[in-house]
Amino acid sequence: MTVPGRFGPYGGRYVPETVIPALDELTAAFERLRDEPAFNAELESLYRSFVGRPTPLYLASRLTKKLGTARVYLKREDLCHTGAHKLNNTVGQLLLAAEMGKRRVIAETGAGQHGVATATAAALFGIPCVIYMGEKDIERQELNVVRMKLLGAEVVPVSSGSRTLKDAMNEAIRDWVTNVGSTYYVIGSVAGPAPYPALVRHFQEVIGREAREQVLELEGRLPDEIIACVGGGSNAIGIFAPFLEERQVKLTGVEAAGEGLDSGRHGASIERGRRGVLHGSLSYVLQDDYGQILEAHSISAGLDYPGVGPEHSWLHDEGRVGYDSVTDSQALEAFTLLSETEGIIPALESAHAVAYLVAKAGEYSEDDLVIVNLSGRGDKDVHQAARALGILT
Ligand SMILES: *Cc1c(COP(=O)(O)O)cnc(C)c1O
Repeated sequence: MTVPGRFGPYGGRYVPETVIPALDELTAAFERLRDEPAFNAELESLYRSFVGRPTPLYLASRLTKKLGTARVYLKREDLCHTGAHKLNNTVGQLLLAAEMGKRRVIAETGAGQHGVATATAAALFGIPCVIYMGEKDIERQELNVVRMKLLGAEVVPVSSGSRTLKDAMNEAIRDWVTNVGSTYYVIGSVAGPAPYPALVRHFQEVIGREAREQVLELEGRLPDEIIACVGGGSNAIGIFAPFLEERQVKLTGVEAAGEGLDSGRHGASIERGRRGVLHGSLSYVLQDDYGQILEAHSISAGLDYPGVGPEHSWLHDEGRVGYDSVTDSQALEAFTLLSETEGIIPALESAHAVAYLVAKAGEYSEDDLVIVNLSGRGDKDVHQAARALGILT
């Protein structure tokens, strides 16, 4: 990082001036607590007893055999409570909010996964929770809306603009500006104004720390490659972080190519975006010639985000992480493949990382060791996948 809050030229705080003091307050609290033993003991205890950590590192031997290629391990974030890595972050941020004496938390959500993870952690801490969600997303993601309500959260429908995630983001910022003293704003990926990208990374690094320890124990060496899907980029940064200094470990982020990179319907912000501002930070963003944000598309709702965390833009420019993409149909094939060969139904997001491995299978040797971050489980996606596969109509 060149200056605080920046990753090379990326990151920063492109937000209304009124929230700068709140970002300063958050930065100070984070700096104070991140190395405090009591805070970390509490966090570790919640990770163990509530989230279900450590998650296993699983040797996918049937997949390995089927691909006839590298030894493949899956980091099983799909086994976390609520079904994905997102809870690592929200439990961490709620603990921070509680320590800061905040009496209310807010968040925005697109597909509802971050909304559910925030509502879950808020219930755990007994802190009232308001979730902003576009009306269109509310219609599309009924199950997650019901889950949030059962968890005691208030779900506020947003009817402005395209009635989707970016409109919900605007509403959440508006709420924060108005209630900045009492309210903690929970951001769901390594995005947003500084210090959020660094803060969310911090809470997701547990994935990589565990994976590193586990692979050393199981194989006695570091992996040759780690593959993770990239929406905002939090599960990817989480598993990459402890390996960034290990230059021999290849790191690969997989974006959503949707219906194809040239179709205009994809979520490949790094491959097809340009520098711009979204969600309060500078990064690669899908935008039109006027800088207006374009809607992203992916079969997986969690990769359907028109930006990417600023650290990924920097890691791309620096060449430390390679970014590639796979299409909806490749992801769907990998979804079926993993279900049938390993008895694990992956989230459609995670299926993108598996699909990349499948696409590159011929390029590995038998001695190669690859870890795929299985960011979440696919229960939430079974109806959509079944429709796409023609099992349901
Ligand atoms: C939200 C989500 C993602 C994408 O978010 P990142 O911040 O890129 O990790 C990926 N996988 C699953 C299962 C998700 O729920």
